[in-house]
Amino acid sequence: MFVMSAIFGGFALVLAGHWLLKGSRHSLSIGFCVLIASVFGGLTWREMRLEAELAEVVAIVSGVPAAEVECQGFLREFRLDNNLGEVAFDGRGGVSRTAQLRGSVCDRIRDWRGAGFGVDDWDQVVAVHVLSHEAIHVSGVTSEARTECLAMQSNATVAELLGATPQQAVALAETYWEDVFPRMPGSYRASDCYEDGELDQTSGDGIWP
Ligand SMILES: [Zn+2]
Repeated sequence: MFVMSAIFGGFALVLAGHWLLKGSRHSLSIGFCVLIASVFGGLTWREMRLEAELAEVVAIVSGVPAAEVECQGFLREFRLDNNLGEVAFDGRGGVSRTAQLRGSVCDRIRDWRGAGFGVDDWDQVVAVHVLSHEAIHVSGVTSEARTECLAMQSNATVAELLGATPQQAVALAETYWEDVFPRMPGSYRASDCYEDGELDQTSGDGIWP
């Protein structure tokens, strides 16, 4: 729907240009307006498509079919303070179904897919994990430590849903556990978050995370 309005907005811009800029440089002005409208329409389409794909992943991982993802950017502006992503809580146990992500997180997920799903760039690994982390919040978990631990165990699934092979997905999950998780603040590291620990969702299966 937003794409359609962007396209109509583009046409409106062209028409406005047509009426406002009558004169000798008429055709040049229309051409410029068409160019601006095309660029805006293209970027809008690309952004909305990514948000829809990420929302599908969050819906599957969280079990909330109506889950949504919003990428901060030229289309959307919202406060995230210092966080890479957020899901609003109402303070009474209720959580929003919308995951809001910093623009750089969405960009890095796009880069990670474009670069072949590798784990060399930690920022890309973290970006995929942030999507996973917010999906766990959308499922109704509000404790950061618990969310982080469950998200870590969802990273491989999230990576696969985004297009990685099972091997690439496991490599991403292991990279986060081994290299990133130990560096997280204490409030994000549950003491029982380890293989066969209290928070291991598949205790005893030899798989971690
Ligand atoms: Zn969180």
